[in-house]
Amino acid sequence: MTEQKNALLPDLELFKKLVDFLLAEEKENQVAKRVDVDDLEDVVNVAISDKPILDNELLSTLEDLIEATPKTATKLFFNQLFGGRQGKAVLGDLLAVLLNNSMYTYKVAGPQVAIEKEIITQSCAKIGYGEDSDGTIPTGGSMSNYMALIMARDRAEPKIRTHGLTQTLVMYTSQESHYSNAKNASFSGIGRNQVRYIPTNDKGQMITQKLREAVEADVKAGNKPFYVTATAGTTVLGAFDPVNEIADICEEHDMWLHVDGAYCGAVIFSDTYKNLIKGMERSDSFSYNAHKMLGTPLTCSLLLVKEKKYLAHSFGNEAEYLYQTDDDDFNLGKTSFQCGRRNDALKFWTLWKSIGSNGLEEMVDKQFELASVAYKYVSKHPDYTVYSFEPSISVCFNYKGIDAKALCTALYEESETVVGYGSFKNETFVRFVTINPNNSEEDILNFFKIVEDFVANSPEMLSQSNSITA
Ligand SMILES: *Cc1c(COP(=O)(O)O)cnc(C)c1O
Repeated sequence: MTEQKNALLPDLELFKKLVDFLLAEEKENQVAKRVDVDDLEDVVNVAISDKPILDNELLSTLEDLIEATPKTATKLFFNQLFGGRQGKAVLGDLLAVLLNNSMYTYKVAGPQVAIEKEIITQSCAKIGYGEDSDGTIPTGGSMSNYMALIMARDRAEPKIRTHGLTQTLVMYTSQESHYSNAKNASFSGIGRNQVRYIPTNDKGQMITQKLREAVEADVKAGNKPFYVTATAGTTVLGAFDPVNEIADICEEHDMWLHVDGAYCGAVIFSDTYKNLIKGMERSDSFSYNAHKMLGTPLTCSLLLVKEKKYLAHSFGNEAEYLYQTDDDDFNLGKTSFQCGRRNDALKFWTLWKSIGSNGLEEMVDKQFELASVAYKYVSKHPDYTVYSFEPSISVCFNYKGIDAKALCTALYEESETVVGYGSFKNETFVRFVTINPNNSEEDILNFFKIVEDFVANSPEMLSQSNSITA
């Protein structure tokens, strides 16, 4: 009997070649050479035609694609709130792709359901939620915020699910919160005009007295305050809102409290830093992105709720063609937004399982340590102006008064390093994030050396900055 070769194997061999190519490329060119949009056609053969191509041609096209694609796992990527690569999480994600389950039912996902439930249960325990808690894994932090808002809306006015809005509901978040709050207000029928952006103090944290005043003004005007988002790690400064004080106001006015920890909610794993969100167990829902501080491949966002009945209340729906066996507790589609849903749990589970909660704690602590190295460096150096505050894994600065936008763009166009800029209270600055725990102290200091050498060799940077600030 001749053994039949699985049709997948040749493609896995191609894949292995591409992995080798990618790893060599990452070593050689830590920042991909930037390709101008207009030149893309010449660099990567993107166009699809009627005719098939041979594997060799596909391979070389994919190599071109890899070469030109921005590298987010290297030691020179600081642009967004993710970076680096955790091998065990990659392993889990690759397995999830091969297994290709959909997470809606136990019938189709089997023990993968238990994997998802385990990371949800353990996360709830870290937050301090009790026995009635539960959660789900939405498509990302924006969707987590959206689902929290919907649960809050439906709790405030259960009839909304059938009748639509009949009164003016008002939500609150800080001026530094994520932009998904505005979009979600529009999607949910609350309306963008019903979002109150509460001012922040000098460190970018919500001023709770201002929140109280805004809520009282709305009550007086006959509106119904129902929802507050506190941010654990604001997108620009990485600041933490005072959750405990906000929880007091939410209790007084019967408002749902959601903690948006997409960026830095993973501090729940750290004995040293979890005090930054003291009072988190008083929230009604909490979200964090394992694809940010915990280095899991995109996307992996957890939404946890203190009382699971609200998840089912807003997102459950009967569907005979889908739910044919097993208990609702193991049919995760009863509490998710989507129907078909990717397995985002396994990659986080393989990481967590292999390094333990202590390993996650080390990852979190390391990022703060690296931030501290960066913060000390820019604070001591007279050529830098600092805009952020400790403890935060976003270190915000300007160098020699150079326009941050011009500097970040030039560093990117010259493939030096990839970093972004942000603004707070009329100041614009470079936002450097120490999100990649694989980096060392040396890597962090190397970033500043790259910036300084680049500026020293590009005198036009300085003259440009003068003309911009003038
Ligand atoms: C990143 C982020 C989000 C959005 O998460 P996505 O997964 O990108 O949708 C929401 N809130 C905060 C504070 C974030 O940093």
